[in-house]
Amino acid sequence: MAEKKRSGEETLYHVTAAEGRIRALAARTTSVVEEARWRHGLYPTATAALGRALTGAALLAASLKGKEKLMVEIVGDGPLGRIVAEADAAGAVRGYVSHPRVHLPLNSAGKLDVAKAVGKGTLYVTKDLGLKEPYRGMVPIVSGEIAEDLAYYLNASEQTPSACILGVLVDADNSVRASGGLLIQLMPGALEDEELIQRLERGIQEMPALSRAIDEGSLPIELLFDLLDGLEPKVVHQRPLAFQCSCSKERFSRGLIALGKEELEAIVESQGGAELVCHFCGEKYDVSEDELRSLIAELTNPPH
Ligand SMILES: [Zn+2]
Repeated sequence: MAEKKRSGEETLYHVTAAEGRIRALAARTTSVVEEARWRHGLYPTATAALGRALTGAALLAASLKGKEKLMVEIVGDGPLGRIVAEADAAGAVRGYVSHPRVHLPLNSAGKLDVAKAVGKGTLYVTKDLGLKEPYRGMVPIVSGEIAEDLAYYLNASEQTPSACILGVLVDADNSVRASGGLLIQLMPGALEDEELIQRLERGIQEMPALSRAIDEGSLPIELLFDLLDGLEPKVVHQRPLAFQCSCSKERFSRGLIALGKEELEAIVESQGGAELVCHFCGEKYDVSEDELRSLIAELTNPPH
């Protein structure tokens, strides 16, 4: 099948430092999040929430290979409903929120109130590593700001002490001005090094606000190298990132067949054709009455 066009690619960097005792990831995701924004018609608070989740999923997926993929699901009791973000080893990122038209008053810090829009609930990370059963980990939502929640997940569920920084800056016209993320992880051997840990904590606290810095022209990888200055940071791997969905009309047609003959006949009778919408990317597919009839024919007279 023809590769779908990937517009506005960004880059994910995988870095090691301090003789491999630090693993770190950095990505600007401005074009990825802007594409999610216009595809789903997101309002600003929803843009910030889904943008952080998409960026976080891309960072978590950095270690995946081949056909492996990963899904971050944040199921809170706030107005956004469910947030779903998926990323794969090729750098394809896609996702959605149940309720895209959510915008709340700014919080006391003057920022988009993602925590309130998410609410309390559970964060799930599902990794499809091509094994029989996907791996699924879950933690309670501890802050709702998403970066803290992903760091909590990595600490609690994968036993990897991690700091996560995610930022999305939304413009006055609701488009995405800047978005990106950093993930800094302590590998075995770093845990006993109090000085190293304190140094990193201080550096992270003193770091400029990520989305503002990106908006002013800095790249997350540059901020990461500043943070790790003196610890010999090295880029070990990089991969392109883009908003990209695996849906197609053919896949949706296969899905329709699963409805069965009676159900398809009922659709033809009540509405003629059908319009199908992909949850992940908002793409619409029109299936005509003729196409539905040929699916019904396929069910009536299977090819074998
Ligand atoms: Zn799609």
